[in-house]
Amino acid sequence: MMSDKKPPVGRDRPFPWRCVECRAKEVFPEPTDYICTRKHDGRDYEIHIPDLEIPTCRECGEQLFTVAIDDRIVAALRARVGLLTPQQMHKGRSQLGMTQQELADQLGVAKETISRWETGGMIQSRAMDNLLRLFFESEEVRRLLRKRFAPDPPVPVNRIRCVHIRAESYTAVAFDLHRN
Ligand SMILES: [Zn+2]
Repeated sequence: MMSDKKPPVGRDRPFPWRCVECRAKEVFPEPTDYICTRKHDGRDYEIHIPDLEIPTCRECGEQLFTVAIDDRIVAALRARVGLLTPQQMHKGRSQLGMTQQELADQLGVAKETISRWETGGMIQSRAMDNLLRLFFESEEVRRLLRKRFAPDPPVPVNRIRCVHIRAESYTAVAFDLHRN
């Protein structure tokens, strides 16, 4: 999820910055009532951040979208969609005493995916968010998934092969008992 304007730039340099448009060293953080539309999971969401500090050139008005700003927009999008935050996901996993690898195996995703969700680098789909919530909340869901990915060994059963033998004077039934 990158910004729709310029690629994000570093977040740690002291202001003022040099403007990428007019080259004036007049870029300062400017509190901005920011509204944008972001697409997630096939739907458009309107996001409103009333106090977004966007580095803005006082000379020409150019706005610079930084990594920090993109993080805030992504966090606002996550809240708007109603998804678990990275902190909530980390907490949910930690409370179960599971590693990222273990959770990934149970959910059927890559470990890197869990890692990106927890660092906020990637937003989970609504479907995965539902699955995560069920997994964290329900022992029954966890039990079912454990069973799916590590099925119990099959219980030995008796198998009977029935053979009918017909002769002139009698009918015999032979049973052949196996253990598998
Ligand atoms: Zn400028």
